[in-house]
Order: sequence, then structure tokens, then C-alpha cells
Amino acid sequence: MADVRWAILGRPPHRILIVEDERDIAGLIKHALERTGEAKADIVGSGDAALKAMTERPPDLVILDLNLPVLSGMEVCRHLRARSDLRHVPVIMLTARTSEDDRVSGLELGADDYITKPFSLRELAARVRAVLRRAAARDAHLATGTYKGAHLVADFDAVAVAVDGAAIRLTRREFELLRYLVQNKNRVISRDRLLERVWGYDRVIETRSVDVHVGRLRTKLRAAGRQIETVVGLGYRFVDQQPTQL
Ligand code: CA
Repeated sequence: MADVRWAILGRPPHRILIVEDERDIAGLIKHALERTGEAKADIVGSGDAALKAMTERPPDLVILDLNLPVLSGMEVCRHLRARSDLRHVPVIMLTARTSEDDRVSGLELGADDYITKPFSLRELAARVRAVLRRAAARDAHLATGTYKGAHLVADFDAVAVAVDGAAIRLTRREFELLRYLVQNKNRVISRDRLLERVWGYDRVIETRSVDVHVGRLRTKLRAAGRQIETVVGLGYRFVDQQPTQL
């Protein structure tokens, strides 16, 4: 039902990963977040399962309990922030502890917000919305402007791309693909993430067709095409290459 509503509005629900070993709590959070149809939540019960799930498909936000078996929430957060493909995923930490130390070290490790147990589900949902809004504002900010590299000049506002001074004609999809890669320059982006961000939630498309589009984009970009690197087994990376200063 929720999916249908969002399909009509043309906007996919946010994908949220709940990392919590207490199943009852995880279930309540999932229900609270999915109630309005704005989000779809998955649950994992341990830190290592969380890292595995995020590697396969980076979520839009993680709700991370600190007290987890094997790998603690703090360790999960430290791993996330050290990885170029997951560094930007917003994290809200859940902690049963009220000590200031935990909160401070959580925020220092790069958590976007924290909430102390016991908490109200309404408050948690409000925090989630606020963090997602901030992340969207950050993305939107990145989406504008001009990229100037050694060969490539891309004006994302004017929808104009040139390589070595010659204008390049791109399809809308190729342009969006370039925009997303450039926005995330020097970061490895998985095929799944490209599918989600460039193609939207249209799962009819297979990950293989991402390769086809990247191939075409590379060819069209001539000398700048080399800046789109294939990272075997992971995805693609746009490598920043600045003009040499004479
Ligand atoms: Ca727990």
C-alpha cells in the first residue's frame, strides 16, 4: 500500500537499516518508520550483519544500537566512517546508557544524532526525518555548480558538458549518471547505488545495463572517459583530475 502511494507521488521511500539485536524493539521501530509509507526498513541483529548488508546495498540512513553482540555499535560506526562508499550514510545511534561519554564518543565517531533508551517512537521518527532532511539538503547542495577538470567541464545547472573545449551531447540518463559520479568524485559507487540514484526505484533495469550506460558515457567523454574507473567487484569511481598548472 505504502509503495503504491509513493509510486504515485513519484518518489521512492527512504531505505533505513535498523541494527538492533532486541527483536521487539527493532520491530516497533520498523513499524513506526514504515507507518506513513515514507520509509522501508530492514532489520539486522548484529554489527557484522550490518556491515554486510550495507556493503551489498547502502541504505539512506542507519539506526544503530550501541549494545550489539560481537561487533559493538561504536565499532560499526568506526568502520562505516573509514569506508569511502559508506562514509556519507547518516547514522542515528541508540543507547541505553545515559553517560555523556557514550554520546560524545558517538558524535565524535561521526554519528549524526543519538537517542537514549527508553525513547518515544514519535521522537525517533521525528529525528529520522530531520537527519534525512539534512542529508537531502547536503545532496542538493552538491547537485549544482560546475566541475572543471583537466579535460572535462560540466555545468550541472546549464546542463552543458564539454571535453577539451568541444560540446558533448549526452542523453538525460548519461548526464544524470555523470552528475552523480562527479558529485561523489573519488568515491567508489556500487552499481546498486547508481541504479537507485540515477534510475530511481525502477527495478526492471538490471545492474548490467548500468555497465552499458557507463561504457557509452566513457566513449562520449573521450579523454575524460578515463576518469571513470571500474573498481572490480565494487562499482565505479570518478577520479578527479585537475588541469596542470603552467
Ligand atoms: Ca541491543
